[in-house]
Order: sequence, then C-alpha cells, then structure tokens
Amino acid sequence: MKLNRLERMLEKLEGFSNPSPRLEQYRTPAPLAARLLFHAALKGDIEGRRVCDIGCGTGILAIGAALLGAREVVAVDVDRTALEIARRNAGRAEVEILFLQADIADPAIPDLIEPCDTVVMNPPFGAQQVHADRPFIDAALTIAPVTYGIFNTGSRSFISSYLTGRAEIDEVIGGLLPIRRTFAFHRDEVREIPVEIMVLRRRDA
Ligand code: SAH
Repeated sequence: MKLNRLERMLEKLEGFSNPSPRLEQYRTPAPLAARLLFHAALKGDIEGRRVCDIGCGTGILAIGAALLGAREVVAVDVDRTALEIARRNAGRAEVEILFLQADIADPAIPDLIEPCDTVVMNPPFGAQQVHADRPFIDAALTIAPVTYGIFNTGSRSFISSYLTGRAEIDEVIGGLLPIRRTFAFHRDEVREIPVEIMVLRRRDA
C-alpha cells in the first residue's frame, strides 16, 4: 500500500467523541500516523509481525499496522468509550484487532499481553499528569524489543536517561502535531507542536 493511500484511509476514521483532558486524548493526525507506520514497515517491523498499540485511543496506529500487513495486532486502552470507537473503526476498515481494556501502569500488563515484535504508540506527553509517559515506556519495553513512539520535541534527553541502559534511542524523526482546539484551556484554533518519532531498541534486541 502506498503512503498516501494509507493516509487517506486513516483520515476517514472516527475520532474521540468526548476527549478526556486527564487521559490526554488527542488523536494522531493521519499524516503523522502514516509516517510512523511507514517508517516501521520499511524497517521490517510491521508486515508479518505481531504488533501492539498501547494507548490506542480510537485505533489509528493499530488499524494502520493491520492495513500494512501485520500478522496480529493487539490494541490496549484504559478508556472504554475510546475502545468502542476503535472497534467501530476497525470494522469499517475491515481489519481484525484484539482490543484490551487495561491501565498500562498495571503491574499485571506483562501477563495480560503476550510478547510482541513491535510496539507503536502515541502516549500522553505528561502535560496533564507529570510522567504519564513513563508507564508507557516501561510497558513498551516489556512487550517488544522495538518501539516506535511519538514524543514531545525536547524530551529526548529525559527519555534517554529514563531508559537507563534498558534500551537505546535508535532513531529520531522530526514531525509536527497539529492540535485543534479540543479543551477549554486551549487558546488557539490550531497549534502545531513539534514532535519526534523515536525508535527505542531494547539492548537485547
Ligand atoms: N494512540 C491514539 C491515541 C493517543 S491519545 C492515537 O494515536 O490517536 C493517548 C491515549 O492513551 C488515549 O486514548 C488515552 O485514553 C490513553 N491512555 C492514557 N493513559 C492511559 C493508561 N494509563 N493506560 C492505558 N491507556 C491510557
């Protein structure tokens, strides 16, 4: 599948109906999601692989991975309403995804999710709850040897030190995340936040 076709398909998916600021529910725009997925696919980390999307929200990354030929896709979110939308989106895109409602900070996560080849994620940046991204990094490292994640530009050195020898930042790709006015505390109609797609590779990988 070509990049722009993937982008067009992802663009059609339904977004959050009533996004929660506490859970930092922002949908990844289709061009950024397609970029992350295409990059992972070029590296051989999607097709034929078992892929897990943590904090899947309305499912854009999970569905894109399935469209690019992942063998199996597991998608996890704590929010039941988001998962309902994600299920509908998967149905419309005609892909099969195993959805799981769980808190990624739950210590039982390694027992709930079988090991995967690749994690994809656009986790909370920790703008509302400090360090909200940390349990995502921890879970990603237990689930798969390689993770493609979207992070705030400028967080690289924090992430790098948080990895503490468990994994390395293998690659960093710059991008922009346009955030439309979603919550009352948003002042601008659209604000573009510089983000980085980071590839985290576990030391044993
Ligand atoms: N990955 C989606 C959604 C990004 S928004 C996309 O790319 O469009 C971040 C998502 O993380 C939200 O859906 C939110 O419900 C979920 N989330 C936040 N904290 C979580 C937690 N502790 N456990 C599981 N999911 C969580």
